[in-house]
Amino acid sequence: MEEKRCAVVTGGNKGIGFEICRQLALNNIQVILTARNESRGIEAVKKLNGLGLPIPSVIFHQLDIQDPTSMPHLVQFIKTHFKKLDILALLEQLVDENGDILPGVSEQTYEMVEECLKTNYYGTKRVTEALVPLLQLSKSPRIVNITSVSGLLSHIPNDKFKEELDDIDNLTEERIDEMIQLFLRDSKADKLRENGWPLAPASAYTVSKVFLNAYTRLMAKKFQNKILVNCVHPGLVKTDMSLNSGVHVSEGAKGPVMAALLPDDGPSGVYFDQTQIASF
Ligand code: NDP
Repeated sequence: MEEKRCAVVTGGNKGIGFEICRQLALNNIQVILTARNESRGIEAVKKLNGLGLPIPSVIFHQLDIQDPTSMPHLVQFIKTHFKKLDILALLEQLVDENGDILPGVSEQTYEMVEECLKTNYYGTKRVTEALVPLLQLSKSPRIVNITSVSGLLSHIPNDKFKEELDDIDNLTEERIDEMIQLFLRDSKADKLRENGWPLAPASAYTVSKVFLNAYTRLMAKKFQNKILVNCVHPGLVKTDMSLNSGVHVSEGAKGPVMAALLPDDGPSGVYFDQTQIASF
């Protein structure tokens, strides 16, 4: 009998992440739903397992992707129970302490800018680095980074940055770090327009997704089709983040789930606009 594949979904307690968990479970995948808040995560798992999915299809493990101390617990949990990991889907969306959702705020503070990059870029990178050794033990590993149409290179006015971020053969993670530092410096000094960055209030969200896309391509190059690494824009989807406008989550999850279940000869290092490959 074929071994059941195992997926980790971050930010799985609500929105598109929750629906991805449901759809993966329906595809006979063992899902580890992770959430930063334990009670919200457990509640979500209860809700999913009450839907009559194949049992035990969805289990909970805590993970705050910004908190380095929460990573080793998840790694150990997967090692102990599943020995390897097949699918990693990363879905965070920063909500600040007032409940403000970054792309929707009218004013973007410097603290929000920093937090957004820490979550959407560095958090994703941290989880990826920690889980790659377990993904490498899978026969068909997949990484799916949930991005946004806001993260297309056309949103970066500075042509030099745009060219560098598109030149995957020469781009490095260190150079992305340097560019993030430049962006933070310019955000603080109110020089976003002068130096060719997208403008507030959505600039941090936009650049976090631009850098995430570039990182996706670097990882795809690094793993040379041994791990298929792609990013997906889910469309405008009705969740808290979109202030409840857009299509139903079942539609929004289709692209990410398709990327999670790609066949072994599927693409790597591409951007899917929902289920269609599009240019960066
Ligand atoms: P939601 O606001 O519904 O969900 C966001 C999820 O991220 C929540 O589970 C939240 O947890 C979690 N999260 C936030 N910070 C952390 C953290 N540090 N560690 C772990 N989890 C965290 O948003 P969506 O479902 O709409 O968004 C999911 C992804 O889709 C995001 O990457 C977003 O950028 C992308 N996207 C969404 C679009 C849309 O129209 N909805 C359009 C384009 C892209 P908690 O409940 O604890 O806050």
